[in-house]
Amino acid sequence: MAAVVKADGYGLGAVGASRALAQAGARVFFTATTQEGAWVRRALGEGPQIFVLNGPADDLDVLQSAKLTPVLNSLAQIKLWDARAPAALHIDTGMNRLGIGPEELPHAMSALKDTSLALVMSHLACGSGLKHPFNAVQLRRFIDASMLFPRAPLSLAATAGALIGADYHFDLIRPGIGLYGSGALDADTPTLTAVATIEAPILQVRDALPGETFGYGATFTAAEKMRTATVALGYADGYLRSLSGRGYGVLGGAKRPILGRVSMDLIIIDVTGCAEAQPGAMVEFLGPNAPLDDIAQLAGTAPYEILTTFAGAVRKSGVRA
Ligand SMILES: *Cc1c(COP(=O)(O)O)cnc(C)c1O
Repeated sequence: MAAVVKADGYGLGAVGASRALAQAGARVFFTATTQEGAWVRRALGEGPQIFVLNGPADDLDVLQSAKLTPVLNSLAQIKLWDARAPAALHIDTGMNRLGIGPEELPHAMSALKDTSLALVMSHLACGSGLKHPFNAVQLRRFIDASMLFPRAPLSLAATAGALIGADYHFDLIRPGIGLYGSGALDADTPTLTAVATIEAPILQVRDALPGETFGYGATFTAAEKMRTATVALGYADGYLRSLSGRGYGVLGGAKRPILGRVSMDLIIIDVTGCAEAQPGAMVEFLGPNAPLDDIAQLAGTAPYEILTTFAGAVRKSGVRA
């Protein structure tokens, strides 16, 4: 099993994430960029194998000095790499994003010359729908193409693909989001341990009467007497505005709904009847009690976007992550 630490470790910090994963036994890593690959190499030292998904560009020196293994995604990248060192080959089986198309394979074979292939890989477009018919189509195409490379190790599945079943595992699986607490599936999400927690402090607690409204646009009106708390977290910290009126914080063992709109640095939550709601108390907005997949669903987005916007922005602010 490889560990994908692209997008700066899914927003959590590629260096910290890869150190933790190496300690847990990971020996193979994937980054998106050469720069990330070089950071991970510096953090982990010589041992681990580090693949760079975007492949070589004008960074051949860094790829070589940091002993990174580029993924060759096009005939141009194969030529640019020019068999300098072992590389991976990405075959496109239907995602039409990166990779050598089936019709280009004969050219790729001759361009590869004596490039030693550390891996032949492809990527599933619809893995998150476990029963999606396109998965089997891509599997078939991958098996057919891989016949041309009988000695190379093979890899097809990311997190969701790995959960489809053993047919999709080949020699190496490449989970990313699964390592960070999401099942990556459209349905029947397995419960995975949360690895990222976001908490923010209450600034004020207020009592409200029926008919009072809250926040920008006055989009929520109290139907009865309420107690509310204003929390120091907002979309500037990566807490998506689409969670307005939909998300929740967790305090005193219960979900506390967001009232009205998320603003730049502030959120108002309903803390009626919650004795723990005092200025300075920390409210959990992501973590074991506010699961990543749940928050993503409420926000109408993917867990990937929650982590990368949240964690990236939070590092610049005072919110505890
Ligand atoms: C992002 C990515 C992965 C990891 O995907 P997850 O869904 O996060 O598990 C694996 N392989 C490739 C090519 C990727 O781009």
